[in-house]
Amino acid sequence: MASYIFGPVPSRRLGLSLGIDLVPFKTCTLDCIYCELGKTATPVSKRAAYVPFSQLEDEIRNFFASNERAQQLDFITLSGSGEPTLNQDLPRVVKLLQQLSKTPIALLTNGTLFSLPEVRQEVLTLDLILPSLDVVSEELFRTLNRPAATLKSQEIIDGLVALRLEYSGQIWLEILFCKGFNDSPAEIERLIQATKAIKPDKIQLNTVVRPGALAQAQAVEPSFLSALLPRFGPEAEIIAPFNISRDHNKTTEQTAKTILATLKRRPCTADDLKHALGLKKVEVIKILDLLREKGEIKMLQHSDKCYYQTTN
Ligand code: SF4
Repeated sequence: MASYIFGPVPSRRLGLSLGIDLVPFKTCTLDCIYCELGKTATPVSKRAAYVPFSQLEDEIRNFFASNERAQQLDFITLSGSGEPTLNQDLPRVVKLLQQLSKTPIALLTNGTLFSLPEVRQEVLTLDLILPSLDVVSEELFRTLNRPAATLKSQEIIDGLVALRLEYSGQIWLEILFCKGFNDSPAEIERLIQATKAIKPDKIQLNTVVRPGALAQAQAVEPSFLSALLPRFGPEAEIIAPFNISRDHNKTTEQTAKTILATLKRRPCTADDLKHALGLKKVEVIKILDLLREKGEIKMLQHSDKCYYQTTN
């Protein structure tokens, strides 16, 4: 089984997406309290060859040489188990993908390394960049996103502003609201001013949809997001749940059936399913979301852990 390619999986924002994981689990510049992948042991900001390029290249070439699902993709997404721009081979991977496929390439990033000119340069040929920005104030950045020591909130915002000036593709900026952290009137006003400077093509308002690294990472109410929407301007939207009817992918359906069968026997956490079925955690989480939206499973919180079980 491939270790750096996952899916295709249905994505809430990108349709049917092939994930390319550019860093090992879990290598990130941040340690967000809501992270669905769990805790980052030590946030890092140094770029390196975190994944052997030769192995990535083999897996990518194999997928596109033999996989008829390659024709059905809406996006190839650079993402996965942490922050993909940490991988210094990013430009080689992009070049390889563009040689092998005409599918648009998206980058799912926390945006923290766009303060580096070379990182901005490396993403110029991508079709879509989806950075996140949850806070402006430095203090909140440290409590909500818990970054590597060298990262500064204002430098990250400046990097996003510079990216907008240099990059002509689409930028969809996600802001994730976490109750009691970045939902104060003062912080919201700072975020509105930051988005005016960054000028993304879309501003996607979101909230915690499943328990993350810390139990205190709680969702804001849907009415809170609706009330905020007009304040962020016409580019803003609330991220809608993935449209299940678009998912005609057989592998996903098969995996969903296997997950359902496992949950019928006993409630499991996403980690239990990951280990039992040999899947990537992001893949498990996306399929659990689909099953929840279809009402086939529900979530239960027990001693800081989130379990899933079937509804009947
Ligand atoms: S940036 Fe993403 S992967 Fe990294 S800790 Fe935050 S939510 Fe998790």
